[in-house]
Amino acid sequence: MTHKVVIIGAVAAGMSAATRLRRLDEAAHIVVLEAGDHPSFANCGLPYYVGGVIPERDSLLLHTPQSLAARFAIDVRVRSRVTAIDRAARTVTVTLADGSTYDEAYDSLVLSPGASPIVPDIPGASRALTLRDVSDVDRLAAATADAGTALVIGAGFVGLEVAENLAHRGLDVTVVERAPQVLTALDPELAIRVEQRLTARGVRVLTGASVISLGPADAVVTTADGATEKVAAGVVVAAIGVQPEGSLAATAGLALGPRGSILVDHDMRTSDPAIFAVGDAATKTDAFGAEPALIPLANLANRHGRRVADVIAGRPHRAAASVGTAVVGVFGLTAAATGRSERRLAAEGRPYRAIHTHPLDHAGYYPGATQMALKLLVDPATDKILGAQGVGEAGVERRIDVIATAMAGGLTASSLADLELAYAPAYGSAKDPVNMLGYVAENLAAGETPAVQWRELMDAEDEPVVLDVRTAAEHARGTVTVPWQAPLVMPLDSLRERHHELPRDRRIVVHCQVGQRGHTATRLLRQLGYDAVNLDGGWLTWRDAQASLTREPVPASAA
Ligand code: FAD
Repeated sequence: MTHKVVIIGAVAAGMSAATRLRRLDEAAHIVVLEAGDHPSFANCGLPYYVGGVIPERDSLLLHTPQSLAARFAIDVRVRSRVTAIDRAARTVTVTLADGSTYDEAYDSLVLSPGASPIVPDIPGASRALTLRDVSDVDRLAAATADAGTALVIGAGFVGLEVAENLAHRGLDVTVVERAPQVLTALDPELAIRVEQRLTARGVRVLTGASVISLGPADAVVTTADGATEKVAAGVVVAAIGVQPEGSLAATAGLALGPRGSILVDHDMRTSDPAIFAVGDAATKTDAFGAEPALIPLANLANRHGRRVADVIAGRPHRAAASVGTAVVGVFGLTAAATGRSERRLAAEGRPYRAIHTHPLDHAGYYPGATQMALKLLVDPATDKILGAQGVGEAGVERRIDVIATAMAGGLTASSLADLELAYAPAYGSAKDPVNMLGYVAENLAAGETPAVQWRELMDAEDEPVVLDVRTAAEHARGTVTVPWQAPLVMPLDSLRERHHELPRDRRIVVHCQVGQRGHTATRLLRQLGYDAVNLDGGWLTWRDAQASLTREPVPASAA
């Protein structure tokens, strides 16, 4: 007998499931029910259509029901909202745009209804636009025509993409973020670079601030210092996160996960063996914890769509646990992250070791090299990689992807040192930034060069001697300052002659620009009998961390 599979939601997860299933089983009867006007649209491209980077609206529409029927023999029905599931009868109720309904039977049901944007619960919220589908983008594009000013609520990945694209469109943009920083997937000393880039390109960023009401053309915002101000807001976009669409599953009595999501097992099966769930609506197996996770990203929606088709076609395939890997471009700057951030590890009470580096994206002698900030988080007991993040002009996403791959393969942090990565001067360095993270991890794991983090130095009760081992000229452009000591500089090349000026009865925190000369200096001093440690990430990490605390613009000359 023909197996009938009904899929709810015709975008990333749903269409991946449908097309994979067809490739596996030509005989299957596949029906896809989509509440919206379009199947298979490019929701990740929506912000770029607003900004004109993607000029043609049609480019967002990847397929039509007709093209899917022709190529895959899939019965895709748009403007067809599923409003109920009868698990006993194995039917779903479909409600059409005119309010009429009918029942559709299934043997297997796949729920891929995604997640809906959260609108803040504030007076005037009905003015706030959200961005999820093609009709949303049409509304936003129309609203920006003569708005002049824009307020974006939320500085996550989508909020920042929208902010940049509204700025491209010539609007005067303010971003308001409740957290003390933009992009909370990153730690503050990296995220500050993104905030600085936004500010440099004319986008006003208010962090630690909340929009408390929306008027017809403005908004009332409580700022970080507790003051209240009016912000011009010709158009308002809410990008404060998404709510998994678990309501159908809840009404049908299926087990739910966090925040009303649909709870699934390794096979993406819900608590009803005939019903599966994938994509933003469904839980993911967390690579780092026992609790089910929510990770609303396109890669996982597509991957799990494929896997659920395998399971339905009788090819059980355990979905690999998810780490969460994401990237965003903000005015030419790339920010990317995989796995856990330091903030999250600290909140979970999980031991970790942080490593900061500032490598060039390719060989310094080859024109056009730019410096990035990378951070690796490592389990100190097992050397397991827990996360990585990076911000820079070029080459960041490649390094984060390599680390995400290493994590998937179960490589340790130290073994990043041994990866053989493609190199030519225009593309990288013979010691790639990923290798360098491995070298540092190896040194730390071996206890060769103990390191101290920027925050540990700020909070140090033993008031260690802080020693800058860069040149006097570098030191003059900005250095680590602590309240208990005047800045002290002793360039690395003079350390063998001058070390006797240092006290032997106090801890010495050595720093250079990025941590590399500091490592050499620390090794030298320790062999000479000093209690020396290296400031992880050097002056650049310290400088960025201080900027994230004070929000003071960093002078370009200090870079
Ligand atoms: P969706 O793509 O949301 O599709 C669900 C579909 O189900 C919708 O079309 C909806 O109409 C339909 N539906 C819901 N309920 C019903 C019902 N009861 N009956 C019938 N149909 C129903 N991720 C990245 O990894 N990288 C990015 O750069 C990125 N950029 C993004 C930019 C924007 C503006 C947005 C909105 C998202 C972005 N994402 C990005 C997230 C990514 O788009 C989602 O993770 C992915 O689309 C989830 O796929 P899904 O199939 O689970 O849900």
